[in-house]
Amino acid sequence: MLKDTINILCKHYGLSKEVVSFVISKEKLLEDKYKNIDEIAEYNHYKVINSMQEVKLTSSDFNWTTGYGYGDIGRDKVEEIYSIIFNTEDALVRPLIASGTHAIYLTLSGLLRPNDEFISITGSPYDTLQEVIGIKGNHKGTLVDYGVKYREVPLIDNRINVNEVIKNMRTHTKLLFIQRSTGYSNRRAISIQEMEKAIKAIKDYKKDIIIMVDNCYGEFTDIVEPTDVGADIMAGSLIKNPGGGLAYSGGYVVGKKDLVEQVANRSTAPGIGKECGLTFGMTRSILQGLFLAPHIVAEALKGAMLIGIVYKELGFEIVPDIDDVRSDIIQGIKLKTPERVVEFCKGIQRASAVDSHVIPTPWNMPGYEDKVVMAAGGFIEGSSIELSADGPMREPFYVYFQGGLTYEHCKLGAMMSLDNLYKNNLITKNKLTI
Ligand SMILES: *Cc1c(COP(=O)(O)O)cnc(C)c1O
Repeated sequence: MLKDTINILCKHYGLSKEVVSFVISKEKLLEDKYKNIDEIAEYNHYKVINSMQEVKLTSSDFNWTTGYGYGDIGRDKVEEIYSIIFNTEDALVRPLIASGTHAIYLTLSGLLRPNDEFISITGSPYDTLQEVIGIKGNHKGTLVDYGVKYREVPLIDNRINVNEVIKNMRTHTKLLFIQRSTGYSNRRAISIQEMEKAIKAIKDYKKDIIIMVDNCYGEFTDIVEPTDVGADIMAGSLIKNPGGGLAYSGGYVVGKKDLVEQVANRSTAPGIGKECGLTFGMTRSILQGLFLAPHIVAEALKGAMLIGIVYKELGFEIVPDIDDVRSDIIQGIKLKTPERVVEFCKGIQRASAVDSHVIPTPWNMPGYEDKVVMAAGGFIEGSSIELSADGPMREPFYVYFQGGLTYEHCKLGAMMSLDNLYKNNLITKNKLTI
């Protein structure tokens, strides 16, 4: 790091010299691992560009239509591009899918009928999905409210318990649900290799079971995706990885044609499906974001590793660990006290380009049972591929760090969060001496 950079950090950002040198010293330990991440990004970048070439993407595709939205060629090409990248028969990619939760809800509600059962085979799903299913909260119109049956099979040693899953499948079990990413839990993400093994064993037992994957935060962290290894359908958010920080909004569903069709019918109306729906001029930013996404995911992954090693060296437990295979962009850190979680998030917020003056506090966010503190100063509000961190106010007080459109920004976040803990006496000071 340039001396001038250290000067800026200490003078303008008010960072302590000890904190800056500590982070720099840990960064040096990661060089080999960064190389591996760059190689994955290179592969995925070529894959993405190739998909755009295959559909003959051209500048008039960025135009949009009005009214019903018939004949929006750009919209159709976006969906074709997603199908190529994710190796699926079909795709639904729409700016009006409000979030990842919405994409997942559309998928589940499009595929499941009353008395069908689905089993989450990676244990309890993400907080907002528990409300979608109807096992938490008190909402009308949940899946359970519509007569869908739901069960869970917990992970065993962080892995899908295939034997138990097979034992639990019954005649009316129609769909198995896999959450790739950590979510707000303390397990690491499910790797593609593990997923492949589990899917194969399950399909050997029951060929027509639908395997659905919640791919939120997982895109482009590996050179293959769940749909390359047997998942039938998969959903995710455009304000996470595949939107590359540029998509204003949106969600995607990719998979087998007959399944995507059912989801599309749910998203508009039976008989209309994918034929309607405006893009409001967002095709350009959705594709520009997708073009950058593999590189940005790599930046975020390196940032996650850096912050991971910094806190590990300070004696905190981290998930995933430095040598674990990464299958999402999240770095969980077990901070053990609510004060640390809040101060950590305040530090991330102070590092943001937007809203750096705002002070995050825990609040009752819609869709979440516990209070959550969130640090996010994104150019796209709520974008968690941008530098962000959050933690639910519950034991054992994990904070989840994710995103960063540039590695440098992640590094600034790492330094500022640590500086906040340091100045508030929330870490043992002598641990910072190197
Ligand atoms: C982010 C996320 C979702 C969806 O959340 P939204 O905030 O609605 O986009 C679902 N599952 C997992 C694992 C996630 O990380």
